[in-house]
Amino acid sequence: MELSAFQSLIRDIYFQRDSRRGLDRTFLWFLEEVGEFTRSYRRGEYEKIGSEMADVIAWLASVANLLGIDLESAVLKKYPRVCPLCSSIPCACPFR
Ligand SMILES: [Mg+2]
Ligand SMILES: [Zn+2]
Repeated sequence: MELSAFQSLIRDIYFQRDSRRGLDRTFLWFLEEVGEFTRSYRRGEYEKIGSEMADVIAWLASVANLLGIDLESAVLKKYPRVCPLCSSIPCACPFR
């Protein structure tokens, strides 16, 4: 599934509820899910990590829907199939 199709699916399922909840509280839920992802990573609960990543991207899609931002366009604009800093594949930037 492409990113735009996933965002559209999340819009179909949750946009009404996301709108009723509002942007600020939806953003807090996104942060809550980042927290759950962090916790499962720190505890080494690897059986949960994929599921928590799914929550993070789903709530990110909800925030993007409320802001009217198309995630796939934003990703391709920022990462135009090469490293945005050095324009290479793979990245040839100094290691950080
Ligand atoms: Mg979660
Ligand atoms: Zn680079």
